[in-house]
Amino acid sequence: MTVLSNRVLEMEESVTLAAGARAKALKAEGRDILSLTLGEPDFVTPKNIQDKAIEAITNGSASFYTVASGLPELKAAINTYMENFYGYSVAPNQVVAATGAKFILYAFFASVINPGDEVIIPTPYWVSYADQIKMNEGVPVFVKATEENHFKVTAQQLEEARTDKTKVVLLNSPSNPTGMIYEAEELEAIGNWAVEHDILILADDIYGRLVYNGAKFTPISSLSESIRKQTIVVNGVAKAYAMTGWRVGFAVGNPEIIGAMSKIIGQTTSNLTTVAQYAAIEAFTGPQDTVETMRQAFEERLNTIYPLLNEVPGFEVVKPQGAFYLFPNVTKAMEMKGYTDVTAFTTAILEEVGVALVTGAGFGAPENVRLSYATDLDTLKEAVRRLHVFMEK
Ligand code: PMP
Ligand code: GLU
Repeated sequence: MTVLSNRVLEMEESVTLAAGARAKALKAEGRDILSLTLGEPDFVTPKNIQDKAIEAITNGSASFYTVASGLPELKAAINTYMENFYGYSVAPNQVVAATGAKFILYAFFASVINPGDEVIIPTPYWVSYADQIKMNEGVPVFVKATEENHFKVTAQQLEEARTDKTKVVLLNSPSNPTGMIYEAEELEAIGNWAVEHDILILADDIYGRLVYNGAKFTPISSLSESIRKQTIVVNGVAKAYAMTGWRVGFAVGNPEIIGAMSKIIGQTTSNLTTVAQYAAIEAFTGPQDTVETMRQAFEERLNTIYPLLNEVPGFEVVKPQGAFYLFPNVTKAMEMKGYTDVTAFTTAILEEVGVALVTGAGFGAPENVRLSYATDLDTLKEAVRRLHVFMEK
């Protein structure tokens, strides 16, 4: 008999974290590896944010627990953020902070899902959604967003997937892994459909600040009062403020759900690490120019690397509008090299030319691979050069 629970045995490992760890391990062995795996900015946290955290340590305020849902000052800072970037205010009982947007998502699913409840997920999707839903005995229902439709689903497709068990529809715009952004009209149709059928909208807006070449991020929750009431917004500091290691995420929405999430936090982690809460207050209320500087760097990288990647034989890429990933379709490339499995193809690239990518399989996209361009241009150019070498061998 195994000592492990069925729950954990049925769970997949996070392919993003696994790919990142494998690249790090190979580098530690002295191999020449270029890692385009993790979606993690290569910048360090801005100095003003670091300083506030240090101050909270030295003046003692970081020494103590906080209420489970977060410091009142943090909730006020999140309200400021919402006013600035979403155009509406939120009361303290509509806000909860936790250990990364990832744990916020987990607390949300644990709060609303009963066994057998269905959550509609447009594919390709970020790796952790499906397993978090399954851990909470929910059923992920995948709706395919095609490349021709720029990796976006329509309200009509969602309606076809709806059953009397549909509890939540998940939206992630800009998307990890595709970088696509839904337009206001598309979101309005989806939002009104959700309101009509009383389906909760989970809006993972974590890449909302990272949009390029004039693209605009519209938060679905900003579209109407009725859509806002139906929506739980998930956001955080990791991507926009170069703060992945601080593990700060938050949710905003219906006080009943927010209260339930706070209860889960109270019984699991107690509260988001106090020093990280002080850092987040500064991120949300301090100067925002560093966010713009980093956004511009990502935009330059995208515009440089996208055309080069498209020239790699057999790689076909839709140009992303946000986030920091490229998600080429490699069907032709696999054919050319005699592969039928994208994970084996990704491993071969790593073994033969030392470029670490993430297999599309974990994103529900077995014809794609993911490259993160949250790394410097020289590394990106060299990685693309090596992909040419791999394909031309
Ligand atoms: N949602 C998406 C779409 C992500 O890519 C990530 C990546 N980390 C998260 C949520 C979780 O963010 P955090 O680092 O705040 O846990
Ligand atoms: N979200 C990032 C990614 O997709 C970080 C790793 C993770 O949390 O999955 O690479």
